Amino acid sequence: MTSAATPQLVDRFGRTVNYLRISITDRCDFRCVYCMAEDMVFLPRAQILTLEEIHTLAQAFTELGVGKIRITGGEPLVRKGALELLQNLGRLDGLNELVLTTNGSQLVNMAEALKAAGVKRINVSLDTLDADKFKAITRTGDLQQVVNGIKTAAAVGFERIKINAVILKGRNHQEVGDLVAFAVENGVDISFIEEMPLGVVAQHDRSDAYYSSDRIKADLAREFTLMPSTANTGGPSKYFNVVGTQSRVGFISPHSANFCSACNRVRLTVEGRLLLCLGNEHSVDLKQVLRSHPGDMQALKQAIIEAMLVKPEKHEFNIHEQPVILRYMNMTGG
Ligand code: SAM
Ligand code: SF4
Repeated sequence: MTSAATPQLVDRFGRTVNYLRISITDRCDFRCVYCMAEDMVFLPRAQILTLEEIHTLAQAFTELGVGKIRITGGEPLVRKGALELLQNLGRLDGLNELVLTTNGSQLVNMAEALKAAGVKRINVSLDTLDADKFKAITRTGDLQQVVNGIKTAAAVGFERIKINAVILKGRNHQEVGDLVAFAVENGVDISFIEEMPLGVVAQHDRSDAYYSSDRIKADLAREFTLMPSTANTGGPSKYFNVVGTQSRVGFISPHSANFCSACNRVRLTVEGRLLLCLGNEHSVDLKQVLRSHPGDMQALKQAIIEAMLVKPEKHEFNIHEQPVILRYMNMTGG
């Protein structure tokens, strides 16, 4: 890895885009209630990018000044060849940060190889420490497997590990203190996420399940002292140090604290659609460009530069209305 190329991706609002999130599969071994319908239909193979195409796209972005790539999904580690892809991405010139978001189910076996591939930091989703609740939320997951995965990853020694927890009122909101205690015990960070209305979910009413970051903060204040952190990860999370520990607590609050003015990211779906905003449908079909101009890096880069002109100013989420975004988070690449 060398230092990032001069940033060339700037949108109409003067925001520089230097961070790409790639969903390398829409498939997953879990079926989390806020992320997917129970009977999801996944994309046929012909419709998804090959691993080589993903690599070519990532290279185009790094040549345009993108220095950070997050691999996500679906569950990225269930895609065959994911590790080889990560190894190849880890060698891209100009890529300073290769990071991963995973549900943790494969970490016991893969953590060491991921670190060797050049993955610097990982985010692992964990919403509850109660095995029955975990099964109910993920529909298919096994809590112990994920906990073992987090412990294995912590032992391997990534630069940072962060737990992501989506908090739903009446389901896991009572556990925020226990989750922070677990993070502290394992020397990792944790972010609490307000649920976003992506796709139609059947099990709960998103408006009723809304539990704001401020309520979580107030709950935590009974057990921990949180000091605002100066650390800026360049993302939507607002961080606090848990006084007396190595851990930080972050809050991703799409509803209660809009973070769009500092947005530096775009998302690539596994269908090759470049999404310019998590909460809008504005997109450009890069798979079409790639397949109609094989080997033409210049055409691809031009399409990416032009895509910046359709990046919207902000997301339009409203938790109290039916979702206008019908794509689920597994397609989007959370
Ligand atoms: N399978 C991996 C995982 O679970 O970490 C990566 C993909 S998952 C879509 C990425 C993140 O999005 C997870 O932390 C998950 O909790 C979060 N997520 C999924 N659906 C969401 C929703 N509707 N609102 C907020 N976060 C969501
Ligand atoms: Fe799978 Fe992650 Fe979605 Fe859960 S949040 S269903 S683990 S993609």
